[in-house]
Amino acid sequence: MRYTRSSQLFNEAKQYIPGGVNSPVRAFNAVGGDPIFIKKAKGAYLYDEDENKYIDYINSWGPMILGHAHPKVTEAVIEKTKQGTSFGTPTEIETKIAELAVKMVPNIDKIRMVNSGTEACMSAVRLARGFTGKDKIIKFAGCYHGHSDSFLIQAGSGAVTFGTPNSPGVTKGTAQDTLLADFNNLENVKELIEANKNEIACIILEPVAGNMGCIPPKDGFLEGLRELCDKNDILLVFDEVMTGFRLAQGGAQELLNVNADIVAFGKVIGGGLPVGAFTARNEIMDYLAPTGPVYQAGTLSGNPLAMAAGLTVLTELYEHPEIFKSLAEKTAYLHEGIEKALIDHKITHTINRKGSMISVHFSEEKITDFKSAASGNNERFKSFFRGMMDEGIYIAPSAFETWFLTDALTYDDLDFTIQAVEKVAKNL
Ligand code: PMP
Repeated sequence: MRYTRSSQLFNEAKQYIPGGVNSPVRAFNAVGGDPIFIKKAKGAYLYDEDENKYIDYINSWGPMILGHAHPKVTEAVIEKTKQGTSFGTPTEIETKIAELAVKMVPNIDKIRMVNSGTEACMSAVRLARGFTGKDKIIKFAGCYHGHSDSFLIQAGSGAVTFGTPNSPGVTKGTAQDTLLADFNNLENVKELIEANKNEIACIILEPVAGNMGCIPPKDGFLEGLRELCDKNDILLVFDEVMTGFRLAQGGAQELLNVNADIVAFGKVIGGGLPVGAFTARNEIMDYLAPTGPVYQAGTLSGNPLAMAAGLTVLTELYEHPEIFKSLAEKTAYLHEGIEKALIDHKITHTINRKGSMISVHFSEEKITDFKSAASGNNERFKSFFRGMMDEGIYIAPSAFETWFLTDALTYDDLDFTIQAVEKVAKNL
């Protein structure tokens, strides 16, 4: 059987790990069946414990923009490891990656490293609250900013898949301070601001949403938010955990030409090791401890191995900015191929794409917000996912996730993927 060993390993894992996984969406609940256990990965490919090979469109949920086990990243991490893995003191490499990030990203002066996207967003909001002296935040239904309490209000990603967009364990008090708006709906945001005059510290969003599938902002949406923030003394926080160093060197701020006040990063900035970061102009960042009063800390923050991986990836992206163009072209090619295959087989669908983020929704409606994303045919998505996996193509095991392309993909890989869609579409 194709997945025998993975299923065995999953059964063993379930005895000692809740649900057998250390992050819920890995468990395949949204698509049914057992998850595959990965043994190793190289370039654009994953290899599971049953020796099956897959073209990878998850890429560790975003970080592996240069592909798996990139030789330069591997070497940098091995060399650093030999010198000790953590000291809890400042190290030179932290300044190097900070300097490079500040060079690459528009409109920022300083950056603070943390260990995950969750921490980055949580700290960004604390800083926004501390800086403005206000408590409330606006977030958008279907956006996911990690699993910190304030964000588990109509959250996207695994929180939707598992039916807990509002998780038990989040207190009423915390939930009260998170106001909810519809993505791409400026009117909605205006109403919330009117009803909560001088109480809103920040608006946080994924500038291109990736946790309800891929949903780009409508023309004028981000500009409108910028204007509303400026008029009402509200900080605009971009959660660029997915889009940062992926859509462009300077992320969504650069690609879409709208500046945020605070930006959260994760994924690519860690090159596949556990890293998040948040950043802003001096005026805001100097409000952070030890210079300022807003507290934030981390035993392993700025860890040398993580910084070595991150610095190597950022350096590659900085020195080869053509990667972003090439990734966007590959994604457009994939889009066209999948679209043709689905049309040929009369499968109702909508494909959304921005840069190297893309998602396929089995719905005729335009997918512009959480409601429209949720209207997709989930049974059809499940068959699509299983069919693709059987053909050796690994996409996210939920319709509420974007796919991420990697620079390691060749046009042969893309053609193979499109052929797989043609085969799978016959049986949808
Ligand atoms: N923000 C966004 C936009 C994300 O996609 C994610 C994770 N997928 C997070 C925050 C949380 O990051 P982490 O899982 O590293 O805590």
